[in-house]
Amino acid sequence: MRVLGHEPILEFLPRARAQAFLFTGPEGVGRRTVARWYAAGLNCPQGFPPCGRCASCRLEPHPDYLEVAPQGETRSGRRSRQPQIRLEQIAPREEGEEVSLLEWLTTHPRYRAKVAAIDGAHLLSEPAANALLKVLEEPPSFARLVLIAPSRAQVLPTLASRCLEVAFAPLPEALLRTLSQDPEVLAYAEGSVGRLRFALEQPAAFNRLTDRTQGVLEAMGRGPAQTLEALGLLLEHEEALPYLARRLGQVLPVESPAYRQALEAIQKAQEALGAYVGEELVRTWLALKLAPR
Ligand SMILES: [Zn+2]
Repeated sequence: MRVLGHEPILEFLPRARAQAFLFTGPEGVGRRTVARWYAAGLNCPQGFPPCGRCASCRLEPHPDYLEVAPQGETRSGRRSRQPQIRLEQIAPREEGEEVSLLEWLTTHPRYRAKVAAIDGAHLLSEPAANALLKVLEEPPSFARLVLIAPSRAQVLPTLASRCLEVAFAPLPEALLRTLSQDPEVLAYAEGSVGRLRFALEQPAAFNRLTDRTQGVLEAMGRGPAQTLEALGLLLEHEEALPYLARRLGQVLPVESPAYRQALEAIQKAQEALGAYVGEELVRTWLALKLAPR
């Protein structure tokens, strides 16, 4: 199992005595991969770094590793733009059909330690966060909990205070360049190996995203109607608005008020979509903000 970069963290984790960690850092930088690596090392008879060849290292999925992630679908099956970790993923409920974290922790590990990664600790529903707090207060001795979030500030203080924070930095471009030399791919990745993999593994989707982003940037100079049309195609992609924000500097001077206003408008639009405001409405509003004349 290969982890790209983060050497100081890989040195530190095997020695850490904590049972609960908070992995912070940008999306796609390798926080989940390191959580899996940590679980593998704890359960490998050779210890750290995990050998990758023994019976435990080769198990996939590993019975002593659990990932809890926000679910994009509401219970009625509707796709939500604001995914959440729900209570039944943490604590058992009568009609719950999936195994919750609490149930999973009631049995002993097959090897040495059970590691649970709560990927999206900033997206826990309130009841789910309260249930998780109980686990953090008194975890079984064989358990390690890894909360994953963009930053400590976005996690409830009661949860964060029970975890040892491990901060992940964006990967240096020189390291990403060992995987791709394409300048457009590297500019898109911006230190994220997850984004880099998306660009390399789904070239058609990546090209659509970059073309459509370019389309919006060009339409901004032509007027709101053209911008509205260009945004319609772009918003099909989940990463669309954050990527558009990162490329604004191509058409507006970074120090200008216009740049700041456009950046703010994109952030507000992203929040509005997360709060279930209709896409049509958000798109129209954003088009007027991005192309005011
Ligand atoms: Zn091994």
